[in-house]
Amino acid sequence: MFSKILIANRGEIACRVAATARRLGIRTVAVYSDADAGARHVAACDEAWRLGPAPARESYLRADLILDIARRSGAQAIHPGYGFLSENEAFARAAAAAGVVFIGPPPEAIAAMGSKSAAKTLMQRAGVPLVPGYHGDDQDPARLAQEAGQIGFPVLIKASAGGGGKGMRVVERAELFDAMLASCKREAKNAFGDDAVLVERYITRPRHIEIQVFADTHGRCVYLFERDCSVQRRHQKVLEEAPAPGMTEERRRAMGEAAVAAARAVGYVGAGTVEFIAEPSGRFWFMEMNTRLQVEHPVTEMVTGFDLVEWQLRVAAGEPLPAAQEALRLRGHAIEARIYAENPDKGFLPSIGALRHLRTPPAVAFTVAEGGADGEPAAVRIDSGVREGDAITPHYDPMIAKLITWGRDREQALARMALALAGFEVVGPSTNVDFLGRVVRSDAFARGEFDTGLIEREKAVLLPGPGQPSLLLRAIAAAAVLAGEAGEAAEAARARGRHDPWDLRNGWRPASTLRRTLHFSMAGEACPVEVEYAPRGWTVRDGEQALCLAGLTAAPGGHRIRGLAGERAFEAGAVFEGEALHLFTPEGHFALGYAPPLAHVGEEAHDGGQLTAPMPGKVIALLVQPGAKVARGQPLLVMEAMKMEHTISAPADGEVSSVRYGVGEQVAEGAQLIDFVPR
Ligand code: ADP
Ligand code: ADP
Ligand code: MG
Repeated sequence: MFSKILIANRGEIACRVAATARRLGIRTVAVYSDADAGARHVAACDEAWRLGPAPARESYLRADLILDIARRSGAQAIHPGYGFLSENEAFARAAAAAGVVFIGPPPEAIAAMGSKSAAKTLMQRAGVPLVPGYHGDDQDPARLAQEAGQIGFPVLIKASAGGGGKGMRVVERAELFDAMLASCKREAKNAFGDDAVLVERYITRPRHIEIQVFADTHGRCVYLFERDCSVQRRHQKVLEEAPAPGMTEERRRAMGEAAVAAARAVGYVGAGTVEFIAEPSGRFWFMEMNTRLQVEHPVTEMVTGFDLVEWQLRVAAGEPLPAAQEALRLRGHAIEARIYAENPDKGFLPSIGALRHLRTPPAVAFTVAEGGADGEPAAVRIDSGVREGDAITPHYDPMIAKLITWGRDREQALARMALALAGFEVVGPSTNVDFLGRVVRSDAFARGEFDTGLIEREKAVLLPGPGQPSLLLRAIAAAAVLAGEAGEAAEAARARGRHDPWDLRNGWRPASTLRRTLHFSMAGEACPVEVEYAPRGWTVRDGEQALCLAGLTAAPGGHRIRGLAGERAFEAGAVFEGEALHLFTPEGHFALGYAPPLAHVGEEAHDGGQLTAPMPGKVIALLVQPGAKVARGQPLLVMEAMKMEHTISAPADGEVSSVRYGVGEQVAEGAQLIDFVPR
């Protein structure tokens, strides 16, 4: 086994790899960019070496610098994590040439699966079922359009070099093909430096089911069952679970054996994932193979009891696989939620900024017993690469953490997930936490009858938009203020060393009852809450409705409050920040304005229809010229930010008076892009 490895990645996966290395007594070398000098992964390793400036191209993608650091630090092997250089054939070759073990498959296997088109050709030969489509070399638009016609609409155009759900376009009708092809090629060129595409039949209502495979250098190859990753947005996974709901033993075996055949066909070694698209009927087809550890590998670890990073290290060190196929068993059910800094209400646009407040639900430390455990694994596992105070920057993936729960069955795993999500608090960037909670609690998901279209179809339920603050929410807001005042009063009394009845904040006043109005605001609207002191607590009123608050307690030194609202026991997080009060309640995260003690006019909410850059990025296409008359919703400009295309559209019918940036120019967040006169 190695005594020292270099981890060529950042964030949660770097921390994840470091945790296993530490458990095995292997020393770790971190690398970091200037944006990450104080990052969690740097602290998680035994050594940390600087790579360069923040952009990945100048840091985490600098194969030459990483190999140089490996040599100078004496690391015997490199774990590439996922993303960055993990599927880079040249890097794997260069590592081998430098005498450092690349903890991943042979370069030839990476190359074989690197292009989705070439991989499909290979798989066809290996007898693995393929989605009907065209994956040839001829990239003439007319040829592609003709192939699409033959396949039959709807079709999916995919970047051969694609990944992370980028570079894909669903085309519903023949007339739309050319425009979609151009847009797909543009995104592919930009994101992957290669605009080759393939065209496939677009399977309606499919499931994404993938098989985890593992091979060693002694000719053994096994499958560690499936993961169902059908809950997706923008073709990217949101929730992943194992086993797949409704999976039968026969189908599991058939898919497992097809995946092993795919791996064997390319001489695979190490951890890999074969992704299939499946119909409810049970038919399944190969989509692609990811030649690395997958983001969602923890669910497989929870249901098999094996540490996949340990397996990777053992295989890379030349040891045989720790277990044979017959020894692998599934136990219980695991589900993973990817917690992203993004705004589900704005089309899941990534969000950036400092994590000014971060609380994760209590987790049981992740431990996997040697050789697979028979006991129950942790009920809640959190894989995170950030701490409170760290920032989500536009330079890297906006993932905050992965939350994984395990249960004896799916129902228990889901219930634990819903509870854990309710305890996850972030103040700073927007997050998808509430959205995930709604998905997990939704009927369609809970029944286990869903497909990759779930989010799109259930939008109305999953993205309900801002609602009226409920009486419970108002009561919790009032409770936060009252508990805070009580805490301050107690503090003041302690400081003075005596008890003064005027310090009491529970409403007691000589010979009177107390009524107060607390002036909150929500999304710019005044939201007054009337509270009245009652013998056993406070009564909160809204017209006819009244709710009694009792037993308010604040966790010492913390920000969580507990109490009874009527008969309902609640626990909520309350974070005061200037004139904002962030409440984390069983109904979700709410940002309220609170101005003690006078009424406060809420701030204007951020506008939606402006022609400004939603985040820092680059202009990649200009679709109008000054003077152009445009219709509401018409695309005006396309920018690329955080590895995604964003189209800026006309907020109303009108005329473009000037265009402030050209193609290729960088723009700052909030920069005015286009001047526009509505008609
Ligand atoms: P990536 O490299 O971006 O992961 P994939 O080929 O794995 O690309 O596809 C990503 C997702 O897009 C899949 O999980 C699936 O939801 C959807 N998808 C891919 N191919 C098809 C298809 N032929 N029909 C329907 N959906 C598809
Ligand atoms: P998978 O197919 O493994 O589920 P995706 O393709 O959705 O994963 O995501 C892999 C992507 O994760 C990479 O392409 C990259 O954008 C992103 N990524 C890379 N490094 C990190 C990291 N350290 N933390 C979080 N995300 C990362
Ligand atoms: Mg994929």
